Amino acid sequence: MTAPATGRRAEAGRPPRGLYVHVPFCEKICHYCDFNKYLLRDGGVDEYLEALEREVALYGAQLFPAAGGPSAPGPDRLGRSAAPEPAPFDTVYVGGGTPTSLSAAQLERLLSAVMGGFPVAAGAEVTVEANPGTLSPRKLAALKRGGVNRISLGVQSANDELLRALGRIHTARQARESFERAREWFDNVSVDLIYALPGQDEDDWRRTLEEVVRWRPDHISCYGLIIEDGTLFGELMRQGRLDLPGDERELAMYRLAMDFLAGHGYEHYEIANWALPGRQSRHNRIYWKNGEWLGLGPGAHSQWQGRRFANVRLPADYARLVAEGKPPVQWSEAVSRRTAMEDTVILGLRLREGVDADQFARRFGVALADVFGAEIRRVVERGLAVWDGRRLRLTERGLYLSNQAFQEFISL
Ligand code: SF4
Repeated sequence: MTAPATGRRAEAGRPPRGLYVHVPFCEKICHYCDFNKYLLRDGGVDEYLEALEREVALYGAQLFPAAGGPSAPGPDRLGRSAAPEPAPFDTVYVGGGTPTSLSAAQLERLLSAVMGGFPVAAGAEVTVEANPGTLSPRKLAALKRGGVNRISLGVQSANDELLRALGRIHTARQARESFERAREWFDNVSVDLIYALPGQDEDDWRRTLEEVVRWRPDHISCYGLIIEDGTLFGELMRQGRLDLPGDERELAMYRLAMDFLAGHGYEHYEIANWALPGRQSRHNRIYWKNGEWLGLGPGAHSQWQGRRFANVRLPADYARLVAEGKPPVQWSEAVSRRTAMEDTVILGLRLREGVDADQFARRFGVALADVFGAEIRRVVERGLAVWDGRRLRLTERGLYLSNQAFQEFISL
């Protein structure tokens, strides 16, 4: 397989566009997870890959006629009138589920379909999520050949007891070995961690941070555990059988991550994300900048050319619809100007650099302070954000209470 670049670089000044591919298979279901995922042993991977190839062809022909095939005449498949051909993708993110639960041959097929079906900009960031214990040298070679240049490894904890409690398939040692193996192939590796786990204290969290920082990943995401309905943890919580650390300890763990990672050269660039210089996630920045991305695969969401839409979640429904030549879309809605403005502020506040007033004015043709003057005053008065007329940024207090700050910008 050839490298993904089409030779077209992102045009200067054009906001980047992302492509997301959802791989809905996992070897085992973790006790806290409410993503759209299905057990690998129940089968369906080949049917999924066939359906994905069809979805790529549907969009490829429609959005990028030069790359994917003849242009579709008349209104497009989402019912909109003809739109100008978009620029190539600047980022590709293959997430899940566990993409690396697929075999090396299946990963090659997936990457070949995606990279061959769409124009991808030269120098694009191409990430694949991986789980420790699923990364063989053959798979790593397949990813490399397929144009991947970044691995995001779900480590979660360096404590075997907690990993077992989470229902993870790997030990801490396997996580380290998988990281080292990924590092042999890729110079850009990110690690995901979760804190505020049942029974966890600050010392345990510190040990996880110490262990992971020794590996020197390029990027670290730290998420506080969220208990979701429909998960084993959700059920245990309902029964009062989950020993969670509580808000104060969770905050202490978040502060610990901030201090510890800053002390080891990681820039805290988003509420839950830290990076070495030059290693921020370009794909996730598209989300936080409220940009455009196209999502493929069961349950994938998109924000594209002024609309938001989501694919059907069940792989069988997804496969049936694309086999009938229909977009596998469950719902689709136009994004109003007001919603786009609110989301630009709320998502932008997640970034430590905050919301840039000039960019906002260029995008919407109106000043940030003219639209959100009262809201800005309130978050500043409450000590949640600072505003210097050019940027609106969360304070440290605002980072801890970010939902309260976001709430101010949502119209009822
Ligand atoms: S591996 Fe990831 S997607 Fe799969 S069940 Fe666990 S947390 Fe969910």
